[in-house]
Amino acid sequence: MNNENEIIEINNNQAPENTLYCPYCDRPTEIVDSKVIYRKPGYGLIYLCPFCSAYVGIHKGTLIPKGTPADKQLRELRKQTHYSFDVIWSNKTILKRIVGDIEFNHLKEKNLTYRKIAYLWLAKLMNIEVKHCHIGSFNSEQCAKAIDICNEHI
Ligand SMILES: [Zn+2]
Repeated sequence: MNNENEIIEINNNQAPENTLYCPYCDRPTEIVDSKVIYRKPGYGLIYLCPFCSAYVGIHKGTLIPKGTPADKQLRELRKQTHYSFDVIWSNKTILKRIVGDIEFNHLKEKNLTYRKIAYLWLAKLMNIEVKHCHIGSFNSEQCAKAIDICNEHI
């Protein structure tokens, strides 16, 4: 027999760690099918604030939110940010021009996608860490800044 006297900790901590709180009213959001918003099934689950209707999508097969819940105005701003950012990362010529040929080749050698390269570039200009550089998590000011930065380079 080995020393089997280890204490088994039972993790009874069923605290709602997955609860996502609404950034507008601080109340817990609810997980619901996005058909309540889109009126069509098939778009997966969302975290929805039942009080102010802010919401955010959930990555399929997980409870991981795709960003932070957003109200209508912020959702619209994030959409615009995506439009501008998509032009940057989906265009190799633009991407090469803004990061520079040498850096671009260097990053491609590391097998980074165009999208990832563009996020690295954007994070740098926004003075944030790349791990925080997700449009789905941007607030209004960050969206405005990102749109300006992208549009300047298109
Ligand atoms: Zn709310």
